[in-house]
Amino acid sequence: MDNSGKKTRIVKEIKVDTKKCVGCRACEIACSAFHAIPKYSSVNTARSRIMVVMDEVRDIFVPIRAGDYTQAECNGRNVYVVDGKEYDECTFCPASCPSRDAFKEPDSGLPLKCDMCESVPPLEKPMCVDACTFGALTYEEREEVVVEAEPQKRGEMEIGLKSLIKKYGLKKVKDTIDRVSKE
Ligand code: SF4
Ligand code: SF4
Ligand code: SF4
Repeated sequence: MDNSGKKTRIVKEIKVDTKKCVGCRACEIACSAFHAIPKYSSVNTARSRIMVVMDEVRDIFVPIRAGDYTQAECNGRNVYVVDGKEYDECTFCPASCPSRDAFKEPDSGLPLKCDMCESVPPLEKPMCVDACTFGALTYEEREEVVVEAEPQKRGEMEIGLKSLIKKYGLKKVKDTIDRVSKE
């Protein structure tokens, strides 16, 4: 809660300054060691939830943190042009996607996602940030007011759900919501 009594949450952010990144990959090493089982028992950057995309000829290093798992390749993609060079459409994508090996646990193939190094007790800052001695990664926390769903939108949601339940039955709708929320 903030001073006015509004519900708040802590938003964690890692700021990436690509100009300061030198491609040392210490962030990948630290992340993979932290997520080894048991913790720090091994280093395998294929297990890292951060990947440094490198173009050494052009001196471009872009650390990307793993985002959500996607079941299928997307149809609408972004093509980036950096300093006049065009990069493949998947180059800077954070998704664990069937189209490539990035962000997949090497043994099981399970998707990897950055969890901001959640642990008990909490770390002062995420491992990748701590390992980055070049200042390319910086960590910030800020408090944000939680925006509740507007009553009108809630109403629209209820109408939508009711019509789905009418069409498919409550069990099927519940099963689908359960399945989708786990993806
Ligand atoms: S540790 Fe920092 S400088 Fe090194 S590759 Fe990672 S982000 Fe770049
Ligand atoms: S890697 Fe990313 S951009 Fe490429 S197909 Fe998958 S989701 Fe789309
Ligand atoms: S925040 Fe933690 S889990 Fe996420 S990429 Fe950095 S070290 Fe890995």
